[in-house]
Amino acid sequence: MLIFRGKEILTDTLTGNYADIKVPAECVVGQVSDKGNGLTAVEANAGYSAPEGYGFTLIREYFASHDDDASSIVARMKGLLGWKMSTRFCPVCGTALEDDTKETALRCPNCGKVHYPRVEPCIITIVEKDDKILLLRHKLRNQDLWCCLAGFIEVGESLEHGLRREIREETGLEVDNIRYMGSQSWPFPDQLMVAFYADWKSGEIKVQEDEISEARWFPKDQIPVSPQPGSISWKLIHYAF
Ligand SMILES: [Zn+2]
Repeated sequence: MLIFRGKEILTDTLTGNYADIKVPAECVVGQVSDKGNGLTAVEANAGYSAPEGYGFTLIREYFASHDDDASSIVARMKGLLGWKMSTRFCPVCGTALEDDTKETALRCPNCGKVHYPRVEPCIITIVEKDDKILLLRHKLRNQDLWCCLAGFIEVGESLEHGLRREIREETGLEVDNIRYMGSQSWPFPDQLMVAFYADWKSGEIKVQEDEISEARWFPKDQIPVSPQPGSISWKLIHYAF
């Protein structure tokens, strides 16, 4: 059983792998079982503390210290847990949903509609100009961190179209030569981050002031305080693909 508490996961302090123990029922606020891999995950409340020999680790740090296969299990179970806890009623008819008997899905006992876990595609990108990269600081979250530009793909868009739109909206720049680098499941709550580099083509920086406090070009060897290892954002900034 995988045990999550917000953005943390319970790990065995000796092995560093996820703990496979039970949680007292009164501490469980959500639970999901995956029929594909046979695993169960629970969300523990803030009152649950790690038993001896175990400790809570940030999920992001777990990703940084485990390979893709091991990280993928944790990303899947955390993603499923978030989906299960936020999908309680049928969007078609409003009836309370039940676990499907065969698949990892929720079924409406009234209209029969089956609801599958969702993934939301997001682009994440670094624009390059000569030997500099574009980083930005957000107004509402992680204000002290210089981050990659990222955003959700809208209905009807390709990844490339969404990427050009996000860059244009947030910084006023146009880009060219978009290169796919890799992707990462980011279950906070349900994103698939798709990472690209792109070349600056035209325009001067003019940030969208509602969301961005500052965007600036940084020489690749003078990177400011930015996201930690474990995220694809870190890989982009540090050319670690
Ligand atoms: Zn229904």
